[in-house]
Amino acid sequence: MKIKIISIIVFLSVLCGTSVFAAEWKEYKRQHFIVYYKNAPFDFVEAVAETSRQYYTEITSNLGFTRYKGWNWDERAKIYIYDNADDYVTSGKQARWSHGVASPRDKVIRTFPSAHGFFDSTLPHELGHIIFRELIGFKARIPAWFEEGVAMYQEKARRWGAHDAVRKAIADETFKPLKELTITSLRRTTNKDLIHLFYAESASVVNFLISEYGQQRFVRFCRKLKEGGPFSWALDSVYVRFKNVDDLNKAWVRYLDNE
Ligand SMILES: [Zn+2]
Repeated sequence: MKIKIISIIVFLSVLCGTSVFAAEWKEYKRQHFIVYYKNAPFDFVEAVAETSRQYYTEITSNLGFTRYKGWNWDERAKIYIYDNADDYVTSGKQARWSHGVASPRDKVIRTFPSAHGFFDSTLPHELGHIIFRELIGFKARIPAWFEEGVAMYQEKARRWGAHDAVRKAIADETFKPLKELTITSLRRTTNKDLIHLFYAESASVVNFLISEYGQQRFVRFCRKLKEGGPFSWALDSVYVRFKNVDDLNKAWVRYLDNE
């Protein structure tokens, strides 16, 4: 009896193994994107390609790209759709708290269908990372909170509620000033509260910068960053009232106090 049960388990795990591990990536090729998927439904895959195309236009104009030739054929971005969170974490080798990841250098996005707000948040966020790096280049030295804040700004709801989350952090003294946030790195083992705080502050400060000082100035700032000088130089030359990140931090906290 025992042997029988064991052989059934072995048989079942072999069955599961063939459906989960041996699944090959299938491709869906469009002009600007290639979507790779395993078992995701095809209409979902089509929607990913179509929605990405729309975001691509929206985000490039959001970031002030002019005369932009775009990604065609061998420059297409690749979007890998893992079957689910477990598949993404194990075969995609990603942190459990992450729902999507972008590698701007090779224009690759990895995510899964049940990722948090797939079409409204995850997709525009990860596309935002790639397009933003195309704009500022890889020489630009920028803090991670700025890079994340810009990606969140591309999300439909722009992390609505981020200002309130930061106000709460200021009140209960868990708030991290930008100087501290700059040296904070997120790892697989980082605790959830710190991850939430990091993203809330990133979204809030970039929203503040764009809503208070305008989209055009922000685009000028991004172009300045492309030159590769220190972040505070670019800040000082475009936002004259901010000599450095501390000045930006003060103005942002004051704004949150008064709003
Ligand atoms: Zn991100």
